[in-house]
Amino acid sequence: MAGEPQADCLFCKIVAGEVPATVVRETETTVAFRDINPQAPTHVLVIPKAHYADAAALAAGAPQLAADVLREAGQVAADEKAEESGYRVVFNTGSGAGQTVFHAHAHVLAGRGLEWPPG
Ligand code: C5P
Repeated sequence: MAGEPQADCLFCKIVAGEVPATVVRETETTVAFRDINPQAPTHVLVIPKAHYADAAALAAGAPQLAADVLREAGQVAADEKAEESGYRVVFNTGSGAGQTVFHAHAHVLAGRGLEWPPG
């Protein structure tokens, strides 16, 4: 069911504390942790604790939770002192766009020049 933990989901396991992660922020509804394969000096993932497969499913199924994720992405950027230099919030959606973990997550990237269009 939408929002319920999935036994085979890596990020549900991080939420449950069954897989380690370097957590930088946590709220009642979200967790933010450093990406294990960082693509920028700041590369933090913000996830909802509840399981939704991607950003579209999250926004459709739990709009307040989607807002929580976006707010936390902004808080991560503030914590990382990235507001002035700028930062990027990315939701890879679908395997064709590079999504590999099918639990919605925002990538927060900062600390280097970020080109547009992205690769
Ligand atoms: O957008 P995508 O689904 O590819 O993002 C998944 C991200 O999760 C990757 O950037 C990967 O490095 C990260 N990851 C992680 N910790 C894990 C497994 C994957 O930070 N244990």
